[in-house]
Amino acid sequence: QAPRRAGLGRARSNLPARRPVVSWHMTGICAGRVVAITGAGRGLGRAHALAFAAAGAKVVVNDVGASLHGDGGDLSPAAEVVAEIVAQGGEAVVNGDDCSDWDGAGRLVAQAIEAFGGLDTLVCNAGIVRDRMLVNMSVDEWDAVMKVHLRGTFCPVRHAIDYWRGQHKAGTPRVARIVTTSSGAGLFGSVSQANYSAAKAGIATFTIVAAAELGRYGILANTIAPSARSRMTEEAFAEMMRAPTDGSFDRMDPANVSPLVVWLGSDACDITGRAFEIAGGELNVCDGWQHGIPIDKGDRYTPEELGAVVAELIGRAPAPAPVYGAG
Ligand code: NAD
Repeated sequence: QAPRRAGLGRARSNLPARRPVVSWHMTGICAGRVVAITGAGRGLGRAHALAFAAAGAKVVVNDVGASLHGDGGDLSPAAEVVAEIVAQGGEAVVNGDDCSDWDGAGRLVAQAIEAFGGLDTLVCNAGIVRDRMLVNMSVDEWDAVMKVHLRGTFCPVRHAIDYWRGQHKAGTPRVARIVTTSSGAGLFGSVSQANYSAAKAGIATFTIVAAAELGRYGILANTIAPSARSRMTEEAFAEMMRAPTDGSFDRMDPANVSPLVVWLGSDACDITGRAFEIAGGELNVCDGWQHGIPIDKGDRYTPEELGAVVAELIGRAPAPAPVYGAG
């Protein structure tokens, strides 16, 4: 990773002094870092790619260009994001691999190294939905969502840490950062999204384990639970997602989520293993499952006595956050 440059020094020469050309690309919080973002052709991933580029990063824009349900493929959204970054003087390349495919995820990491000389930050953002009440959910709807979210997080992370461990062992460590994308559905549950909620809960837990295991290599890993307007939300939550027409703060603009992701993906981030909720300007840290205060009998319980013990435990425990869409 190139050292962060505070500005360009004036070259010593006999030429008349010129004002140095300093753009935000050179001075941003991610100047010189190489960032790969999955699902960056649209929605949140697109906003993250633009924000990382504006913060000085070189960006690998991954996207298969799938439909909301994961079908089909179209490289043009990713290519448009790259064109937008390049037009603004940034550096970016398209990667059209399926991030949930083992070899595809390997090519994504390899492309960052080939195109930009390394990888510093991996943002796992790609996602699909196949919403259905459990009574009607098919096994294909279950598998498709699990594949994109869970394999689509594990595969690129696994390839990235292979590279980062190699760099660490070679004595050329990268300041490596992983940002995964969970969801309020994963942290609290969401009716008609049992598949998506389970996958997103898996991503949250995967991330805390990654943080615990990878800290020794200097790799920090955090997850986010965003809320923003995208094709994933603008119909299902039309009222909540609508952009204001009176010029007030557009709370659900996906670009509001990106500064957090840029910070988590920068070498300024010194936090690992945490989940952050973000919606507009509202940022929060979420605590996961907590141990309650146990009742220890010091012996094996009988089934008959457990009703009273459980009632006491439930009575003293805080009420759980409601499942989205329940009741
Ligand atoms: P989106 O549909 O606009 O973007 C998702 C992108 O991922 C698409 O461009 C799609 O082509 C791409 N993609 C899908 N499968 C892929 C694969 N296998 N490989 C590479 N790319 C793939 O949706 P979004 O709202 O921007 O969602 C981004 C992430 O944020 C998702 O993980 C989503 O679950 C999560 N999320 C979004 C919200 C929200 O409010 N929008 C809330 C919680 C979580």
